[in-house]
Amino acid sequence: MPELPEVETVKRGLAPAMEGARFDKVELNRPNLRFPFPPNFAARLKNCTINSVARRAKYLILHLDSDDVLVMHLGMSGSFYVENKNSPPAKSDARTRITAHDHVIFHLSGANGEHLVTYNDPRRFGFMDLIAAENLSSHKFFAKLGIEPTGNSLDGKCLARLLANRKAPLKAALLDQKLIAGLGNIYVCEALWQAGLAPTRISHTISTSGAKARANAIALADAVRDVIARAIAAGGSSLNDHRQTDGTPGYFQHEFNVYNRENEPCRKSHCSGHIKRIVQSGRSTYYCDSCQK
Ligand SMILES: [Zn+2]
Repeated sequence: MPELPEVETVKRGLAPAMEGARFDKVELNRPNLRFPFPPNFAARLKNCTINSVARRAKYLILHLDSDDVLVMHLGMSGSFYVENKNSPPAKSDARTRITAHDHVIFHLSGANGEHLVTYNDPRRFGFMDLIAAENLSSHKFFAKLGIEPTGNSLDGKCLARLLANRKAPLKAALLDQKLIAGLGNIYVCEALWQAGLAPTRISHTISTSGAKARANAIALADAVRDVIARAIAAGGSSLNDHRQTDGTPGYFQHEFNVYNRENEPCRKSHCSGHIKRIVQSGRSTYYCDSCQK
């Protein structure tokens, strides 16, 4: 499943072809993805210009000059493929995926040329919607989303405040989208390992009784921002078949320090522990019980 760093990578891959470009035509090869497309979807996009390509949590957000916002979610297996109409890709870059799963094709023209942007999604858990710009922040997708884990606003002070009085284990609190938006299972495991905190630890123990940050709240906030920033820099990571928007086999699965490393030695220097796997709320948690306290 694409996690936040993948979605950020997709956003950066789409921006050169889409930002400032106009929809010349939109081809829909089926009536729905996870949900039906909104009424008159193709017609409402046609001739609109995309003012900006942004991301919030795992949603791609394209502001249009029609005052509609095109919201897209990759679900479990969605990916985009960008082709420049006037310069076909080198043979080695030719796409290898099954085009039967190409569900939406955007024909775009803009300052960077004419592009085809194709949305492919074998499992069809992704979706696209059009939302009036003025209703975006109050829309059910966005109204309750927590803070972004990418910016500097997520610091120790903020995290201590968010987790004060919470009795849930740290792992569950970090996965709560109402607290932090878009943080997924893999990166929560990695951040807890990096910060040396046990996933089972009670959340409020990183805050003082006055909801101030203890040292480990600062370490955890730093670790969350760091694992996300490094994954984005590495081009995202995913356990599924993803590819970069130019069609090259992307989303290379970068090395994780704990995720999927059950029984392997801990990589912290001076730690002789081994990685354990437990199940929390139905999801696998990987951690080292020697150095994560
Ligand atoms: Zn360890």
